[in-house]
Amino acid sequence: MTAKFSTKHESCPENDLDSALQRVRIVLVGTTHGGNIGACARALKTMGLSRLALVQPKAKLDAEAFSMASNALDVMDNIQRVDDLDAALAGCHWVIGASARLRDRPHELMSTRQMAEYAHVNWLMNPQHPQAEIALVFGRENSGLNNIELGRCHAHMMIPANPVYSSLNLAQAVQIACYELRQALLGDTPVPPLESPPPATHDALENLLQHWQTTLHELEFLDPQNPRHMMQKLRSLLQRAQITPNEVDILRGMLTAIQRKTHNTGVGHDV
Ligand code: SAH
Repeated sequence: MTAKFSTKHESCPENDLDSALQRVRIVLVGTTHGGNIGACARALKTMGLSRLALVQPKAKLDAEAFSMASNALDVMDNIQRVDDLDAALAGCHWVIGASARLRDRPHELMSTRQMAEYAHVNWLMNPQHPQAEIALVFGRENSGLNNIELGRCHAHMMIPANPVYSSLNLAQAVQIACYELRQALLGDTPVPPLESPPPATHDALENLLQHWQTTLHELEFLDPQNPRHMMQKLRSLLQRAQITPNEVDILRGMLTAIQRKTHNTGVGHDV
């Protein structure tokens, strides 16, 4: 690991995001459960990745694998099977090995988030290496990656989990790594505001409140001597709700209907 990484960076437009994520491959070594392979395929697809490689898998792509893959069938169809790790890493410029255990190269150990920032800045969005390819390597369910396999990696990545029990399920570890990569590439892209119609104007609300007050008087719900307290509470409620002009119309329509009934039946009027 030579370059320093920075946490301040530009966010990535959608096209660049897609093409950057196509340059990431996820490599699973010696996987023993078909369900985990399927769940990994789904983890990739949900985060916009598509390249999954299996090194000497012990599991078959069986019904459970496809069931766990759910709608990530395209990722399953494109799985690359290879006989050794070197073949899976051919063409890669940077390789990171995921391990739940601290190994003897602590200077090259990164958290998942650091890995993602580093990959983003140095490999996936670095104008000097526009075609750079990277790989994330994950180990066997029962024994992880061996030292020879970790030796093939430029750096090691650990998900900073509960130190008392830090070994995640393989597919969950893959999901977290892919998620962090996607978030790093998205950068600080602001979440677009929810689309909502503009709220009713001040005068529309005041007219509604006046209508409301008249109707409540007619219903003898409101003390005519002291309507203010109640009306201010209703005003606060309307302000909080940020109701729209259309909703004002609906409420006023209801009030008119109530008034029509009360006028007809003489409710609230001395006879
Ligand atoms: N029992 C194994 C862990 C197997 S979990 C061991 O002791 O190493 C399967 C794979 O998921 C691991 O090889 C690793 O690639 C990944 N993984 C699980 N938990 C992880 C963590 N906390 N940090 C990084 N990778 C993890």
